[in-house]
Amino acid sequence: MMTALTLFTALFMAANPCELNEDSLDYDQLAYVVIAPFEINGPSLDKWDVVFVGDGFSDSEVDENLFAKKVEEAIDVLTDTRPYRRCAFNFYWVRLVSAESGADHPLEDPPVCRNTLLNTEFGDVDEHPDDDRFVYTPTPFRCLDAADLVTYDYDIVVVLVNDTEYGGGAWPEESIPLTTVSIGDGFDHVLPHEVAHRMAPLHEEYGDWPGCYELNEYTELEVDNPADFDNITTETEYGSIPWKDLIDLETPRPTTVEALEDQNPDITELEIDNVVGLWEGGMGYDHCIYRPQRNCLMRQEHYPFCEVCKISLRKAMAFLCPQDPLIGAPWDEIGRYFCRVGTIIRIPLPYCLSCPPPLGDRPTGPGGTLTVRIDLDPRPHVRVIRIVNALGETIVSGGTITDDTLSIVFEAVPFGRYYLELVPLECPPTGYFEFSVSFYINGNPVSFM
Ligand SMILES: [Zn+2]
Repeated sequence: MMTALTLFTALFMAANPCELNEDSLDYDQLAYVVIAPFEINGPSLDKWDVVFVGDGFSDSEVDENLFAKKVEEAIDVLTDTRPYRRCAFNFYWVRLVSAESGADHPLEDPPVCRNTLLNTEFGDVDEHPDDDRFVYTPTPFRCLDAADLVTYDYDIVVVLVNDTEYGGGAWPEESIPLTTVSIGDGFDHVLPHEVAHRMAPLHEEYGDWPGCYELNEYTELEVDNPADFDNITTETEYGSIPWKDLIDLETPRPTTVEALEDQNPDITELEIDNVVGLWEGGMGYDHCIYRPQRNCLMRQEHYPFCEVCKISLRKAMAFLCPQDPLIGAPWDEIGRYFCRVGTIIRIPLPYCLSCPPPLGDRPTGPGGTLTVRIDLDPRPHVRVIRIVNALGETIVSGGTITDDTLSIVFEAVPFGRYYLELVPLECPPTGYFEFSVSFYINGNPVSFM
């Protein structure tokens, strides 16, 4: 008869059939590592720094060439997918050499195990044993350690997994800017999808679970809050739909193919795809939660991003390209931000906080820092105002109110990269915050042209 202990052991072993490399990536392995910047479009503080790290690539010439080819393809795929823009990124690569080619497939019978440096596997055997499209690693920090080999300033680490099967994943934690993408089937769709999760508050637009999304006191801790994301909502009243400005008043809501065809029997499939409305299903649930369009790259491969996702991604890239038409306008005249209660509005601060003369020759404060004050006028109604650095770490939180102006002051390291984050308390009826932004550096007003 099996004792409880052996039963537990048997279950544990069944759940984790593949051995892990858990020792830290040490410099002994540098001899087997090729690291290089791949494409630099500007200073790190002014770009999304993406590091491609390979897993499951052996030291064979075939694998070496394959990784190089896939990095090039990945950059093309990403930057050819609207609205991504090449000039908004810097790309790096880290070629790690694993003992074996491929990735683990622990859910297969019998399990397939490969000895790879970053332990990537199809399916999270502990948390999501039913989803073998999720490319997981139990050792995410090894992937970040690998990215550290080429730059500490990464914003997104993409692990390219040497496998032929479809799959990918994005870590939800702000502190683990990690995505995995299989180079197999669907690579060109999975990559821009996973990167979107990291760059903007975008959730899945597909439903897998045939039930109803319900946020209650029991699930609140475990289920994401739709209000934190730009592309899903539980709101059905027109005035409360976050993307209502994009919805034609005539569009039936909830929006269905049947309702659109009832309204216009001649409507084409393409026209249906282009309708922004209130389509049921998203965030993994089929019901009681809504997305903007019938299809979107956040829902299904082979489709472009929907209009709401495009706006969200464009916002994440605003000010990062020299040819960006927004750059031609004074920075503080572009204060229009999509507002949604519970959503974090993250505004990249101008990199010119520390750019070369004439601004660069400003006197600096104690310790070589710049005292930066930012005034928002009129004051947006926010629950939180804070400054975060490129790693998402809070530098300072809380502001002061004078008349109708909200101010926040922080000490900026020259060439540091910072974001202003606002968490709305309430939004104007237009759905947008509109305010002007004034900068003061070491007490002197500064304008960013
Ligand atoms: Zn979308």
